[in-house]
Amino acid sequence: MGKFELSHRPYTFPATFRLRINTMSSSTLSSISVAHPNLADANGVAPHGQTITSEPLLRVRNLCKYFPIKSKGIISRVIGKVKAVDNASFDLYPGETLGLVGESGSGKTTCARTILRALSPTSGTAHFRAKDPSAPGGHRVVDLATLPDRDLKPLRTQMQMIFQDPYSSLNPRMTVGDIISEPLLIHNIGTPAERKDKVVAILRKVGLKPEHMNRYPHAFSGGQRQRIGIARALIMRPSLVVADEAVSALDVSVQAQVINLLMDLQQEFNLTYIFVAHNLSVVRHICNRVAVMYAGRIVELAETEELFSNPRHPYTQGLMAAEPNIDPDIPMQFALAGEVADTGNLPPGCAFHPRCPKKFAPCDKQEPVLQKVAPSGCQASCHLLTPPAGS
Ligand code: SF4
Repeated sequence: MGKFELSHRPYTFPATFRLRINTMSSSTLSSISVAHPNLADANGVAPHGQTITSEPLLRVRNLCKYFPIKSKGIISRVIGKVKAVDNASFDLYPGETLGLVGESGSGKTTCARTILRALSPTSGTAHFRAKDPSAPGGHRVVDLATLPDRDLKPLRTQMQMIFQDPYSSLNPRMTVGDIISEPLLIHNIGTPAERKDKVVAILRKVGLKPEHMNRYPHAFSGGQRQRIGIARALIMRPSLVVADEAVSALDVSVQAQVINLLMDLQQEFNLTYIFVAHNLSVVRHICNRVAVMYAGRIVELAETEELFSNPRHPYTQGLMAAEPNIDPDIPMQFALAGEVADTGNLPPGCAFHPRCPKKFAPCDKQEPVLQKVAPSGCQASCHLLTPPAGS
């Protein structure tokens, strides 16, 4: 009841969402503490029923990830840089799901990986509210962007990633039990018997059976392998999980099962997700807020329903027009043409201006800044929404 069903009209999902919330137990609802104003309804109830507090779990500011472009030849030198992520800033609240969307090459995966320090940031900060029983209040805030590797390792248990491809993300030579228990072994947690108990418990949580732990990944279907990947990510009880296109490689029917599983586990463990995806139907269903990225920059950031019912940035409007399953009630303006801007050679002014049908005088000269454009807190970077002085 209230489950996500894929259909040819997936944008009717918010109705099933409300049904899901209405059918939650009173104990679940009472666990919701101080709600973030942009995520709660008039009664302070968060959309997915999770605990959402006013203290961000993650505060990202001006995060940049540049890759050097080197000249060819015997003595290569840096002749430019690819701005894969440029000045990304956002807050992420406990229990929230933030979607990162955009075309391929927009920087969404690089942004998520830079936050987790799978890639070293070029500049910027990513303050993470880490669990620490010895600290006052049980938490301490650390800057993931600048933390030395030796201090980062213990925090890896609190930040995990679910990968896109369940086929290549699992070692084919390891049993499922070994794959899932590997993080416990690396961090020297528990005895072999305790680790086995934890593996059995998490296998059950993700809908697999204890006997599956002695099998190898090739013996499973794509959906089951993704469940194994989820079990491996969650066995350390992380607070932050990055799901990088976690359902994109799965059959449509299996996608719905995995999405439901992710939502159930989020509620049970109060997980916070960064959900990287290009499927807008899925994003609309699972995310509280959505950040739209173009050419390495966040160009619009808004609550999910607001973004889908009133996309403000021309790029967001174009993305939605390109979505085949779009709700016909949502006002569509134009379809995207051309390619994503080359982040190694960005055009002057607004990076989207060569593709934007709404560009006007200042767009090819002046770069728009991401700023608040509505009382709801919606942010966008577009001269149409916040005209520059003198235009
Ligand atoms: Fe289009 Fe100009 Fe807005 Fe860029 S700033 S999205 S070019 S209208």
